[in-house]
Amino acid sequence: MTHGTVAALKPERIAINQATTRKQWDFREAVEGYARHGVHWIGAWRDGIDKYGIAEVKRLLADNGMSVTSLNRAGPLVGLDRANRQSALDDARRALDQAAEISAGCLPVLPGSLPPGSKDLSGVRTQYQDMLAELLVPARKAGVPLALEPLHPMVAADRSCMNTMTDANDLCDALGPGIGILLDVYQVWWDTRLEAEIMRTGKDRGRLLGFHVSDWLVPTRDMVFDRGMMGDGVIDLRLIRGWVEAAGYDGPVEIEIFSSLDWWTRNPEDVVKISLERCRTVV
Ligand code: ZN
Repeated sequence: MTHGTVAALKPERIAINQATTRKQWDFREAVEGYARHGVHWIGAWRDGIDKYGIAEVKRLLADNGMSVTSLNRAGPLVGLDRANRQSALDDARRALDQAAEISAGCLPVLPGSLPPGSKDLSGVRTQYQDMLAELLVPARKAGVPLALEPLHPMVAADRSCMNTMTDANDLCDALGPGIGILLDVYQVWWDTRLEAEIMRTGKDRGRLLGFHVSDWLVPTRDMVFDRGMMGDGVIDLRLIRGWVEAAGYDGPVEIEIFSSLDWWTRNPEDVVKISLERCRTVV
């Protein structure tokens, strides 16, 4: 078992995704708030750029010694008619430019899924691969890796037609350099192939672009907005971190808790404090 041998998580590797304090703090407050607690990696959302402008965003990041793990996000790309598909690609190109400007580690690309009335899941999956191939051209030029984040199959009909680490690894194999994987434990913890597919990312150094942590509550009351605090659910976080590190990943470990029912209603200072404590004790 890798379990017993996983070293304590170094505090300098901890990142917080803005989603974690989404209802309490805007971009500036999140950057300043996380920095106050000694965190110097942020998973940023594009609405911060919309609100403050790219120059002010860069200044806030620099003033707080903050680096950006990823810029959320491009997409959805599939299940759209021709006109909307073009505007989704144009928007994704703008996201690439923004990600390059703020030196984000990667740009996640949300797939989307079935258009209204359709049952053609394999069709939208093929379409997603084609759209990624198209987006890879400017992504390679910009030097920003595209990140595939498989989402739990319970959202396969609407949010994401890509649902497993196997699918993500297969896409990376098919598409070549400039694309990698964001592993979010909430999405993939249940998968019998998880360890094997994490090891598969290690064969191509750099394929794993990020590692998101939260927990799976029993019961889960909302598919998207009821993620648990690390340690409150059933995911063996340290075991999975051990696999990720055995595969060669030594990048940021990112707290990402979507929780309209609980953590978004709490004092954000407490949310950050408790998150950091749980990183020490259970991640
Ligand atoms: Zn995530």
